[in-house]
Amino acid sequence: MLKFNLSHILICRSRSLLFLSGVFVQDLGTDQLPDIADHTLTLSLLCSCSLPLSFSFFLSFLFLHSFSLTLACSGCLIETPAAGTAPSPAKIPSHAPYLLIGGGTASFAAARSIRARDPGARVLIVTEESDLPYMRPPLSKELWFSDDPSVTDTLRFKQWNGKERSIYFQPPSFYISPEDLNSIENGGVAVLTGKKVMHMDVRGNKVQLEDSTEISYDKCLIATGGVPRNLQVIERAGEEVMKKTTLFRKIDDFKALDKVSRNLKSITIIGGGFLGSELACALGRRSADSGLEVIQMFPEKGNMGKVLPEYLSNWTTEKVKRGSCPFCIVVKTDHIVAAVGLEPNVDLAKSAGLEVDSDFGGYRVNAELQARSNIWVAGDAACFYDIRLGRRRVEHHDHAVVSGRLAGENMTGASKPYWHQSMFWSDLGPDVGYEAIGIVDSSLPTVGVFAKATAKDTPKAATEKSGTGIRSESETEAVATSPVATSPAASPTPAPPAQQQKEDYGKGVIFYLRDKVVVGIILWNVFNRMPIARKIIKDGEEHADLNEVAKLFNIHDD
Ligand SMILES: Cc1cc2nc3c(=O)[nH]c(=O)nc-3n(C[C@H](O)[C@H](O)[C@H](O)COP(=O)(O)OP(=O)(O)OC[C@H]3O[C@@H](n4cnc5c(N)ncnc54)[C@H](O)[C@@H]3O)c2cc1C
Repeated sequence: MLKFNLSHILICRSRSLLFLSGVFVQDLGTDQLPDIADHTLTLSLLCSCSLPLSFSFFLSFLFLHSFSLTLACSGCLIETPAAGTAPSPAKIPSHAPYLLIGGGTASFAAARSIRARDPGARVLIVTEESDLPYMRPPLSKELWFSDDPSVTDTLRFKQWNGKERSIYFQPPSFYISPEDLNSIENGGVAVLTGKKVMHMDVRGNKVQLEDSTEISYDKCLIATGGVPRNLQVIERAGEEVMKKTTLFRKIDDFKALDKVSRNLKSITIIGGGFLGSELACALGRRSADSGLEVIQMFPEKGNMGKVLPEYLSNWTTEKVKRGSCPFCIVVKTDHIVAAVGLEPNVDLAKSAGLEVDSDFGGYRVNAELQARSNIWVAGDAACFYDIRLGRRRVEHHDHAVVSGRLAGENMTGASKPYWHQSMFWSDLGPDVGYEAIGIVDSSLPTVGVFAKATAKDTPKAATEKSGTGIRSESETEAVATSPVATSPAASPTPAPPAQQQKEDYGKGVIFYLRDKVVVGIILWNVFNRMPIARKIIKDGEEHADLNEVAKLFNIHDD
């Protein structure tokens, strides 16, 4: 039995997109597992309301018989090899001067910067996945908007500006074969796919793979990213439920969910963060043609409620939902997507004797991203010392690029501290986008400055202008010039009047404050201004009037 505590409930439905907000999913114990009978799985969800007028009711998830017959869980699909899938070579090199554990964004960025500073470098990436390094952001955005029926094979997507690209950072021809790593002239980057590092012998400078093969190294990067969290209730419910659940992270998950969304009638997304909201948007769009029902559930009052201040979170929810539906007490669904956060992958901590941060998770590293001599950590798995904002762990693409690049530089002896503030972005389709930097946490005091939006204030228009869809690649040195009109919201209690906000505002700048200093900034439908935001964070000054600071962004002049 799953228990929901409702601090607030919002249920609304578009043609087929339904939201349940204010829903906490809680486990009641192992003795109350779902009933499985005649291939029909029923999970009873107990909901209790913590509103003054307390009431409780039951929700039921009915997993239908057809479900178990027609669906495969993530990882169960039989796939045709994609463009970036590399067969594992028979011969594994016994030594790699530069060994990078993990084949994600941070590793790839490190490989690039190692080669840039040491052109003859021999770099070996070992990755558990069967794919060559690729970027994850399009998996929950542009790929879902593709009209190409073979998109799950090609993994090519159109950026919002219409330009096509692959999710792979480089084609197979970019890489050298692992068996040639130590012999090929001028070195190169080799990728050992489908291999997991199980053990690290830090004193012996070597790692061990699943099949007990050992690889020694001179310098090693750990860039193992993270594993999507699951809900205990789903875990405890056993195999049957897990088969009907997607934990979304990889290409395989995209392929599996794509298939599910074409074959089933109802998908429930649990989680209201960036990933859950992006997937709700993506699947919601598909629902327009197919009649697929998409349900999104989250404990906050609105989408991205942990990051956005309440008024903007509400605005976002309004943007992704349409219409309303009658109050439902029974939810039937064929498939669950649990988008409830990430657990940094620190499996190697024990054998390597590395410290895991007790507050943020991840391997603790210094400002140069070093954990021990000859070992660096980058990306989602690193808990680093940000010389401006203190100890942090960041789970975003640009951070993976920037920290991977820095780790790579430091592996070649640069000894540089992590001073560059990474940014992140999230798009809810081509029309609504957020770019952010620093610490953005809705529990901090915020000040927002807003303006009317025009057709130019969309991710689509921004990528048309900048020419790139991965927005950390599009940063330009914008310069603040002309003064702007006074904003209606420049006090520490900044929410614009609800009515005005609804009718007038479609873009803005939100400052997040800690001890009166700006530690984070969100640009809502404001694009290509990240260098300005970065400078404000870097300066770390107290500002008497954030309206003045907001003028740097020129949001009223566009
Ligand atoms: C669907 C999706 C959409 C996203 N969208 C955005 C976005 O819009 N904006 C944004 O800023 N960020 C976004 N992110 C976050 C961003 O993609 C991540 O922060 C980034 O991928 C982290 O890179 P990484 O290299 O640290 O880890 P990962 O990309 O997770 O790579 C780690 C790799 O290491 C492998 N590995 C782990 N352990 C081992 C081992 N022991 N041996 C061998 N290999 C191992 C894993 O299999 C994995 O391939 C998104 C993430 C997802 C999943």
